[in-house]
Amino acid sequence: MRGQESAKRALVVAASGGHNVLMIGSPGTGKSMLAKRLPTILPPLMPSESLETTRIYSAMGRLGSDEPLMRQRPFRSPHHTISDAGMVGGGSIPAPGEISMAHHGVLFLDELPEFNRRSLEVLRQPLEAGCVTISRALNSTTFPARFVLIAAMNPCPCGYLGDARHACKCTPMQIERYMGRISGPLLDRIDLHIEVPGVPFQELSAQADGTPSAVMREQVGRGRRVQQQRFGSDSNILNSRMSSRQLRRYCPLDEEGKGFLKTAMEELGLSARAHDRILRVARTIADLEEAPDIRAGHVVEAISYRSLDRKLWTR
Ligand SMILES: [Zn+2]
Repeated sequence: MRGQESAKRALVVAASGGHNVLMIGSPGTGKSMLAKRLPTILPPLMPSESLETTRIYSAMGRLGSDEPLMRQRPFRSPHHTISDAGMVGGGSIPAPGEISMAHHGVLFLDELPEFNRRSLEVLRQPLEAGCVTISRALNSTTFPARFVLIAAMNPCPCGYLGDARHACKCTPMQIERYMGRISGPLLDRIDLHIEVPGVPFQELSAQADGTPSAVMREQVGRGRRVQQQRFGSDSNILNSRMSSRQLRRYCPLDEEGKGFLKTAMEELGLSARAHDRILRVARTIADLEEAPDIRAGHVVEAISYRSLDRKLWTR
């Protein structure tokens, strides 16, 4: 069950540094289960976060009478038929959408290529800014929307490309069209691409659950403590949100690390944005080990999470 274990490792990295994730795998490989695990390994809401989330739910009348305060990180998983307004907010009197209901929590988009391209495009700006502004003729309203995005997709339209258990029936053209539904700019904002391999049923049932959530939570907590020491405990900056100045300051590489990154850039044809994403992820991986310096091994692991770049650009 190495595949599942490496997917869990990626989840720990994502939860610790607040990195967005895309999981690619055949149906039945447990992508939804992994996504649902993400909020359970995130640290508890800080009081200020709890208040902000509560304010959104309260304004929408979505707060239960028995729960005056949101204590759990929200997990939202809108269906792919959702409208733009449902996703980011809207209406004549602007109301928050799913991304604001996921504030300080997790937004899970299953079957990512099935989403209307426009409702994915409108995610780009909030993913960058951590908020969304709904403009109307007379005024505009800004809602907070700081969440970890976790998306899932099949490797091809039939779902079984690369799966040893079933043959894939798709033509190269169909696969290309399917992958093409996810725009490069959106993909650029997703730090970790992970392939969740199909696991034969016997193997799955013979194995224990692997790394338990409690252990994952502990690892995430360790990584978060290092980040708090770096950015200050009341700042809500995580490695995934470092500015370019902070990136230069906190993510210097040694010669070996620079060499790996340069080679990857050339071979995968990575964008400058992807380059910076790799640095941010490498910082998170080093923090999980409480390593003050980013070493080559951290860079290599961070590069391994860009598998989709390779697929998209080498075809
Ligand atoms: Zn297929």
